[in-house]
Amino acid sequence: MNESKVQCPVCLNAHGGECIKIALASIDAAKYQCDICGQFQLDGLTLLTRLGADNQEFDQVQRAAITHRIRNLNDEAGQIPALDSDWLGEFKDHAALPTPATQMLNLIRYVGWYVHKNGAHLKQLPIELYAVIGAPNPERVAELAVELKAEGILKGVDVSNLQDKGLIDVDLTTRGWKEYQMEYEGKKSGGYFFIALQFHDEILDPLIKTYIKPVIEKELGFKAQDMRDVARAGIIDEIMRQQIRDSTLVIADLTHDNANVYWEAGFAEGLKKPVIYICEESKFNRKDRYFDTSHCTTVTWKADAPEDFSARLLETIKRSLQLEVK
Ligand SMILES: [Zn+2]
Repeated sequence: MNESKVQCPVCLNAHGGECIKIALASIDAAKYQCDICGQFQLDGLTLLTRLGADNQEFDQVQRAAITHRIRNLNDEAGQIPALDSDWLGEFKDHAALPTPATQMLNLIRYVGWYVHKNGAHLKQLPIELYAVIGAPNPERVAELAVELKAEGILKGVDVSNLQDKGLIDVDLTTRGWKEYQMEYEGKKSGGYFFIALQFHDEILDPLIKTYIKPVIEKELGFKAQDMRDVARAGIIDEIMRQQIRDSTLVIADLTHDNANVYWEAGFAEGLKKPVIYICEESKFNRKDRYFDTSHCTTVTWKADAPEDFSARLLETIKRSLQLEVK
C-alpha cells in the first residue's frame, strides 16, 4: 500500500496531529487518516479546487466544522465519508459548529465516557478533543473546561497560568456524574415524543396528524413531533440524532420498510429510549415482511379504524412509560 505523511487537507493540522494519506488503486482518490479529523476519502479534483491549503473557500471555523462532522460520522455512524463536491456543497449550506452549550454537553459526555471506560482520570485534554466536541480550536476547549470546573461539573487542576492550557487530571464531580448519567440514559428529556416515519404517505400522514399527535398531547401532555416539525438550521443527521437523544419516547412506523426509520429506531434503542413500533395491520401480518419485531412492542393500525388505533397506542405508551393506567 502506498502511504505517505501529508498535511491534512481539511484541518491543515493547524493545531497539531499527523495525517497519513493512503493512495487507492485505480481511482483518482485517496483515503486519509488524520489524528484530528479521523478517516475520510477525498478525490484529487476536490482536493485541488476546494480543500487544499491554498484554497480560501473554507475559513478556519468552517474547516473545524467539517472536521467535527467527519469525526461524528466516524464515531457515531461508523462511516468514512467521501468528501466530493456534492458532500461539500451540502455541507457549505449548513457549515456551522454546534452551539457552545452543546459543545459543553459534548465535553461532559467525553470526560464521563473516558473515565467510565478507563477507570482513570483523563490526564490531559487531548488535542483532537476540539474536533470531537465541535469547538473551533483547542484553546476554546481549555476555556470551556475551566468554566465547567467553576460550575462544579468538572474537577481537575487548572493549568491556565502555565504553559499548558485548561485542566489536567480531569474527572467529573458528583454533580457532573449525575448530569452524565441522566444524559446517558436519555433522561434529560425534552418532554416530547419523536415519530420516525416515511413522509408523504397519503394514509399515514393524516392518521398521525389527526389522530395521534393531538391525542398524545391532550391525554399525556407530551408533544409528538417528527422531523418536519423541527425548523432549525443545521445538518439534518445531527438534528435528527439530537431530536432522538432528547426525546422521551420514540414511535417508529415500519409499514414502508424505510431504512431511515430502522436507523432511527436502532439509534433510539441503543440509547435505551422506549421505542414503540407501529405498522399497518396487513403488512404486519404478512409472512414476507423483513423485520422481526416479535421481541418488540408493536401496535398495528388500519386505515379504517383510526380511533381504535390511537386508543391502543395510548395504552401502550402509558404502560411503557409506567404512567398511571386507568
Ligand atoms: Zn485533519
